[in-house]
Amino acid sequence: MEQKYIPKASLKAWLGKVRDDGRRLYAPVTENGKTSFRRVKSADEISMEHVQTAQSAKGVAFPRTERLFSYVRQPDGDVTLQDYDPSAIPDTVVFGLRPCDAAALKPLSGIFGWDTEDKPFSERMRRVVFVGVSCSRCDAFCFCTSVGGHPGSAEGSDILLTVVGDGEGYLAEIVTDRGRALVEKGGDLFESATGISKEDYLAEVPVRFSVEEVQRKMAGAFEGDIWKSQSARCLGCGACAFVCPACACFDIQENARGSGAGDRIRCWDSCGFSLFTLHTSGHNPRSTQSQRWRQRLLHKFCYMPQRLSVRGCTGCGRCSRACPVDMNLAEHLGEFEHL
Ligand code: SF4
Ligand code: SF4
Repeated sequence: MEQKYIPKASLKAWLGKVRDDGRRLYAPVTENGKTSFRRVKSADEISMEHVQTAQSAKGVAFPRTERLFSYVRQPDGDVTLQDYDPSAIPDTVVFGLRPCDAAALKPLSGIFGWDTEDKPFSERMRRVVFVGVSCSRCDAFCFCTSVGGHPGSAEGSDILLTVVGDGEGYLAEIVTDRGRALVEKGGDLFESATGISKEDYLAEVPVRFSVEEVQRKMAGAFEGDIWKSQSARCLGCGACAFVCPACACFDIQENARGSGAGDRIRCWDSCGFSLFTLHTSGHNPRSTQSQRWRQRLLHKFCYMPQRLSVRGCTGCGRCSRACPVDMNLAEHLGEFEHL
């Protein structure tokens, strides 16, 4: 993989050039003690002090709400549709996503590309360039190395930056042609990078369990009691799904404007909500929280690997950080290993 070096002092100038042709730039910004991805106008707004952002960058490709089409009833009773308009999607650069977030683009693409291509998702993905930044620190919730990831993994990124030396610059690994085009915009700001290895600058994320063993035991535990014991305190609040970079549950809703016009919108949902599977008949095939917890884990660790050859979890740890009742996914997964 081609490598370059960019001094930290040149980052602002590079990101300025990246925005020159009208691209939107999204990056981690800290507000009121919380760091999340925001649209920024200058590199001065960017904060990279965090281990992980509160929200992932998923919303750039899969927005929290999105209009799929609009309709208008004409005076003669006919209905005209205004289809999804991909030309309205802005070219965007996402700077600063961690390797576990970049890796989550693969399961998301698997879900939205399975069977029928999802046009809104694929059109957005075509217009985004992802600039990842390796992790030099981790916390007790991180477990990327337990699910096949790595704090310096370039998977999913178009460019991967790693802070090297005493923090005075970044090693830039150019992963894709889109990444190369972005580096070329920086011109002389990028220098040659011979002899720099990122390995010495990465976080040491401990492996907490054997994911192959966990998957094997989980697949055989469908009727077991473990789902009840693990989910006994789950509130079904959905926070774990809303912060997850790989969760893709959504609902389709009608946003009517009077009786003659409206929008069909897609919004994030969660298989942890009791309403998610409630039928109009009143029957709910997943009527208990333990059934919903089972679905969440089996989907991520068994069904997705079987159908899409990718896990639905990259070990970012957000679900455990966000859970109001301290459910810790890495600990729960570890319990399957010992069944
Ligand atoms: S399930 Fe939890 S740890 Fe895994 S990717 Fe989603 S938020 Fe991160
Ligand atoms: S965040 Fe915690 S309490 Fe809320 S649904 Fe997820 S596991 Fe349950």
